[in-house]
Amino acid sequence: MPSTAGSRLLENYRPPFDATAVRKLRESGAIVVGKTNLDEFGMGSTTEGSAYQVTANPWDLSRVPGGSSGGSAAAVSARQCMVALGSDTGGSVRQPASFCGVVGLKPTYGRVSRYGLVAYASSLDVIGCFGSSVADSGILLGAISGHDKFDATSSKRDIPDYASQFVAIDYLESKPLKGLRVGVIRETLEDGVDSEVISSVRDAVSHLEQLGCTATEVSLPSFSLGLPAYYILASSESSSNLSRYDGVRYGNQVFGDELNSLYGDSRAQGFGSEVKMRILMGTYALSAGYYDAYYKRAQQVRTIIRNSFKEALDNNDILISPAAPTVAYKIGEKKNDPLAMYAGDIMTVNVNLAGLPALVLPCGFVEGGPAGLPVGFQLIGAAFSEEKLLKIGHIFEQTLPGCSFVPPIVADE
Ligand code: GLN
Repeated sequence: MPSTAGSRLLENYRPPFDATAVRKLRESGAIVVGKTNLDEFGMGSTTEGSAYQVTANPWDLSRVPGGSSGGSAAAVSARQCMVALGSDTGGSVRQPASFCGVVGLKPTYGRVSRYGLVAYASSLDVIGCFGSSVADSGILLGAISGHDKFDATSSKRDIPDYASQFVAIDYLESKPLKGLRVGVIRETLEDGVDSEVISSVRDAVSHLEQLGCTATEVSLPSFSLGLPAYYILASSESSSNLSRYDGVRYGNQVFGDELNSLYGDSRAQGFGSEVKMRILMGTYALSAGYYDAYYKRAQQVRTIIRNSFKEALDNNDILISPAAPTVAYKIGEKKNDPLAMYAGDIMTVNVNLAGLPALVLPCGFVEGGPAGLPVGFQLIGAAFSEEKLLKIGHIFEQTLPGCSFVPPIVADE
């Protein structure tokens, strides 16, 4: 099957091997039914950045499914498949999960091998799991996790039996989450976030309290630094990673009279504008004279963010935020305003900078579209605490009153 990463440059490219995550799925008996659309090389938040198609959101076909793994989220939401993989460098599994009303799990950095994943920013990239339930996404995680000799950053930790965490509703005690300390991140429920999103997330927190949790507000003063640091680091790493697409080693080639024009023309015609902008930004941030002011500074901010999450997670079992400041945008709404599009990633990028696991699950609706638009909230845990996140998420979704997250496109059939 071709792997294009949403890029013209890789049109018709057929990889010679399966990624480790896919190999493991096939070995456990999974049937791979297709590959899904995405923003070119994972760069974007709406899937409009694909060189091929615009993917629609099954809740409202005039809206985007989110991105960059929007095709995977839409496919699961529309019940075209049971589960799907995506890649989460700065939120590309969690934000589309939120926009499409499905579950999106971003594992701890290193939990899943990146071997065979098309690289965007290697210190942030993680393969993540979409499902229409927490249980499905947990089962998927169990199947793809583990050490891999082909990825030196993959962890040697044992793989927990994630499915054993799931207790069916009839067997739950009356306060099944008694004693669990939940920290609600103050900076994520302030100005710039839609009021309806804030109230849905606050309702989700009340629901967790009814299940026995104690919720308190926590402040992460460095939270807003995540966005600029992320865009510097992700662009820098991508400028290096994407240098391999030179028209010789991979994908489409534009013939030139001499080598430099072969490289240059292949890249000029193969890459889309967003990718070119990121390569320029990253090359600039890494260049002599600017390196200290941008790349090094962003790395320092990354350490501050990581430490502030660690401290907050020493005092709380999990942290909570919205998955995105808004519900799904209209197609075209943000396409020509990259900064507004980047700003929509504020809820997710910090988690990648800190390397932590996070689970996004639907918690309610706001008005819009033919049947309302889903809102997702995010549970963030300490490194390698996926078991805990899945357990909480499973209890949450089973006990959430009166919500069905099946989109109208399927419900009508
Ligand atoms: N929207 C973010 C970006 O464009 C995140 C992308 C991702 O996680 N792949 O970089």
